Amino acid sequence: ADLSQALRDLTHKREQVLGGAYRLFYRRPVHLVKGQGQYLWDAEGKKYLDVYNNVASLGHCHPAVIDAVHQQMGQLNTHTRYLHEGILDYTESLLATLPPEINRAMYMCTGSEANDLAIRVAQSWSGGTGIIVTQEAYHGTSALTSGVSPALGSGQPLSPTTRVVPAPDAYRIGHEHLGAWFADQIQQQIDDMAAHGIRFAGLIADSLFSSDGVLPGPRGFLKPAIDLIHQQGGVFIADEVQPGFARTGEHFWGFERHGVLPDIVTTGKPMGNGFPVSGLIAREEVLATFSDHLPYFNTFGGNPVAMAAAQAVLDVIQQEGLQAHSAQMGQRLLTELKGLQQRYLSIGDVRGAGLFIGLELVQDPATKAPDQQLALDVIEALRERGVLTSVAGPHGNVLKLRPPLAFQEQDIDWLVGALDQSLQVLGAR
Ligand code: PMP
Repeated sequence: ADLSQALRDLTHKREQVLGGAYRLFYRRPVHLVKGQGQYLWDAEGKKYLDVYNNVASLGHCHPAVIDAVHQQMGQLNTHTRYLHEGILDYTESLLATLPPEINRAMYMCTGSEANDLAIRVAQSWSGGTGIIVTQEAYHGTSALTSGVSPALGSGQPLSPTTRVVPAPDAYRIGHEHLGAWFADQIQQQIDDMAAHGIRFAGLIADSLFSSDGVLPGPRGFLKPAIDLIHQQGGVFIADEVQPGFARTGEHFWGFERHGVLPDIVTTGKPMGNGFPVSGLIAREEVLATFSDHLPYFNTFGGNPVAMAAAQAVLDVIQQEGLQAHSAQMGQRLLTELKGLQQRYLSIGDVRGAGLFIGLELVQDPATKAPDQQLALDVIEALRERGVLTSVAGPHGNVLKLRPPLAFQEQDIDWLVGALDQSLQVLGAR
């Protein structure tokens, strides 16, 4: 009782000093005080399993990142107007993970800044302004990126040069013709731009379509769409803020699942394991149309401490074999969840790539009608069982399962057991 008074006080204080734009998860807010690996602890000492945080991708408070940041912070922290080896060494390590054509890197602090610059580069390369995104896409919080983020809802008007295509939902559209269908949707929007005198600049998409409801789709289905974009003189911006850095298990980058070559890759969230680091990596000739004419300076972007954190992240992914681990744990979790699907009609679909899985709750598997209420109740019931996650998709009925890559077998048991119990107590079909 004492502590719920404390929770009430904290919640009230937030509203008083932070204003209305900040949203809390959960009907009973969680007050976290400590993290380690895939686990979190609240102020009462209750332990939670983190099934949501892809920023702390190596695990919360990873010692290698703490050491790297601590050491560099105690040595020197300046900016990119002085020579420093850290940014060059890191860039060599980063470029080694990418196809050789993608050979120039720039650094910022957030995914929004990376996508903002990517849009400006795409517009400068193509000479156009028109950007295509998916129905529920989220690409950032700046004026340019919120103008290509329909996920923000009707309160945030899209830019007049933005066009929206339906998300490639293999569960409803089918696997077989998904690639041709998606390319056709894009062609229709390029035609619409032309009809309105808007020149096409490119497509920005996250290859796992996270906010559209976690839609990995069949391998390679994006290829026809990307080929079309290139034929039409546009650029493909692969927003790797969610799928990048070994998340999909089978590849280091999400776009690699599709055998396509992006013109621009943007990164963020897991890049510094919680230290704010983001990047834009591009084909030299695409970037040059912008960088030959305009200077770019980002006060904190690419500074020695940020680069030390980012280097530690790449090193740990390699040393701990986290990409293979993500593939293995992801497959195991997917199999377990498919087993659970056999027992509940409410689980309409389970899909994923590595440790990024969407579990879709429906009212009836025949109609596939989304069950948003059940999803919301499941999230709360999971929280009572110490499992933290959230929902995605236009109807908010898809559980978004995206734990730190440190996730282990015993965590799969915890998650699947808690999900089973939650569905049971909620009387799911
Ligand atoms: N792109 C994607 C796909 C994202 O998920 C996000 C953040 N949710 C962003 C861009 C924006 O990143 P940031 O919040 O670091 O600006």
